[in-house]
Amino acid sequence: MKGEIFVYNSLTRKKEKFEPLNPPFVGMYVCGPTVYGEAHLGHARAAITFDIIFRYLSYLKYKVRYVRNITDVGHLEHDADEGEDKIAKKAKLEQLEPMEVVKTYTDSYHQVMDLLHVLPPSIEPQASGHIPEQIQMIQEIIKNGYAYENQGSVYFDVSKYAQEYNYGALSGRVIEDLVAGTRELDGQSAKNNAIDFALWKKASPEHIMQWDSPWGKGFPGWHLECSAMSAKYLGTHFDIHGGGLDLLFPHHECELAQSTACTHSEPVKYWLHNNMITINGQKMGKSLGNFITLKELFSGNHVLLHQAFSPMTIRFFILQAHYRSTLDFSNEALSAAHKGLKKLINGLRVLKRIEIPAEGNKEEDLNRNLNELAEVSFEGLNDDFNTAVTIGHLFNLLKKINSIYTKAIDPASVEQRVFEKVKRTFIDITENILGLTEEHVVNAEPFINGLLEIYKEAKLNKQYDKVDTIRAYFKKEGLVIKDMKNTIDWAYEE
Ligand code: ZN
Repeated sequence: MKGEIFVYNSLTRKKEKFEPLNPPFVGMYVCGPTVYGEAHLGHARAAITFDIIFRYLSYLKYKVRYVRNITDVGHLEHDADEGEDKIAKKAKLEQLEPMEVVKTYTDSYHQVMDLLHVLPPSIEPQASGHIPEQIQMIQEIIKNGYAYENQGSVYFDVSKYAQEYNYGALSGRVIEDLVAGTRELDGQSAKNNAIDFALWKKASPEHIMQWDSPWGKGFPGWHLECSAMSAKYLGTHFDIHGGGLDLLFPHHECELAQSTACTHSEPVKYWLHNNMITINGQKMGKSLGNFITLKELFSGNHVLLHQAFSPMTIRFFILQAHYRSTLDFSNEALSAAHKGLKKLINGLRVLKRIEIPAEGNKEEDLNRNLNELAEVSFEGLNDDFNTAVTIGHLFNLLKKINSIYTKAIDPASVEQRVFEKVKRTFIDITENILGLTEEHVVNAEPFINGLLEIYKEAKLNKQYDKVDTIRAYFKKEGLVIKDMKNTIDWAYEE
């Protein structure tokens, strides 16, 4: 393993040495999407952030069980536990079954994540497939005295919990402020206190997603699914819990309280949160008209976009910032990312072609320098997965690689062993850890047509050697040149 890793823990608000509970195993739970619409840049940033952590820890030979859920029930519109269910609302609007909405957007999410080279998690549980586990957890919380049932709904008793534990430990919120900030109960609510949150909600007869429970027909609260599913697949104590900073409160604070109320101890060792993406300096929102989906970015089909941006450009753009910093989207920033990415990919291409002679005047200082540059390249990753610093290190390596390629540095002066290390480091970090690879976007058609023009000319000038050479190129690719009466064309060899 290459050095020690330090991570910033949102719970302690400190950078801490990463020491898994049960090495080499690492349990990581990340809050996945609520699947009622197309994925956008915010989804990409969260997924890519934890993809890097998954990839790097796996690269270091940790055995990572990465669980990322799909929220397909219980995420309500207001403050997560009031209003209509987001998926049910969309289903009603489009006259679909809720599970049709879920399938459509889950498939679409997977598609764009594949394009972004986000590896699939080890387990991807759906909330609707874990209703019994959620009911069981609610029963446990009631039994321990931190929840109450009223009119068919069950609520978490925040003030009771706060007498023994620190509600606000994660988000830094102060319970007195929260109480003062919540609106008065209108007498119709089944909550004892406005800051209490739903573990189970009674369903009205017209509510389309509902299940039987000890408290009657209803559905689980949004926060509960993550507590139940993380406990099921990672145990009641696990290493990393991640998600976007927007989930810190109330979602993660409530998760922490629920899980603690079950076991009387902290469920998670390291809480990690990625920061948000702004668009031209503004928060992204449907009402602001600056809501751009990933598919729109890939196609360029949005009024705010000057052009299409490839998935690898988006990935590189996101990796250019540390995940805890804010990141501002603009056409200019994306274009700059595109250029940076191409430089790196060109580096990969030449690197694989450079040959270092065994014999030569091997320069000690140069080789020591190259060796150091390779070693230091992992420092950014070890320092809270700082990909911005890592990319800087890659560009330092790239300068040397390009100099060796152009022979500004004599390849014979480089030791083969050192070059192998530089090569391995550059390829491992770029391709395997950052997940950046060459996109095959070269359109072959104009090249083929250009070659056919040269073929025609050669034939006209009776340069039969050239004609044969060009035919051979086509044949190698499984193509044939069709000499017809008035025209020349190509076809696939049959
Ligand atoms: Zn969650």
